[in-house]
Amino acid sequence: MKLTSIILSLVLLVGCSSAALRQLIAAMNPCPCGYLGESRCHCTEDQVRRYRSKVSGPLMDRIDMMMQVPPVAKGLLRHDVTVDKGEDSATVRHRVAEARERQVSRAGKANYLLSHDELTKFCVLTESDYQLLEQAISRFGLSARAYYRILKVARTIADLAGSVSIETLHLTEAIGYRRMDT
Ligand SMILES: [Zn+2]
Repeated sequence: MKLTSIILSLVLLVGCSSAALRQLIAAMNPCPCGYLGESRCHCTEDQVRRYRSKVSGPLMDRIDMMMQVPPVAKGLLRHDVTVDKGEDSATVRHRVAEARERQVSRAGKANYLLSHDELTKFCVLTESDYQLLEQAISRFGLSARAYYRILKVARTIADLAGSVSIETLHLTEAIGYRRMDT
């Protein structure tokens, strides 16, 4: 898929030992000029590749979710125009709180705190989905760390959907957050 968004957002969740937990949300442009996909962008593929390579592999490996943020739609910033802005914050907050409660009632902790053994217990996939995940790891050159992070994100997506099990669409969404389109 060709990248058409102006801004790429990177979300990094770093789980350190004991009480030192950090959540980092960062953003970067998709190309040196910031207008990739638009006629005013004249960046070459090599320039884009070199620009993105400034973010090191080990750092990227620790990023749980990467997503493209499209340009703001026309009219969205105007107060005199009614546009569909999707769910309001209160609705999303309620859904997140419910998902968090599911995690705590199931494992006694949030998904991002699950140990390797707990992942094996609480983030079970079907055999075909395990194969799908392994194929993604191989295809995108991801690490073992990425493998377990994808499982945690997939479990969280399932919780947000109110699903007891991790379904294929939850897994594919989690995998989709691990790669930037080129
Ligand atoms: Zn550009």
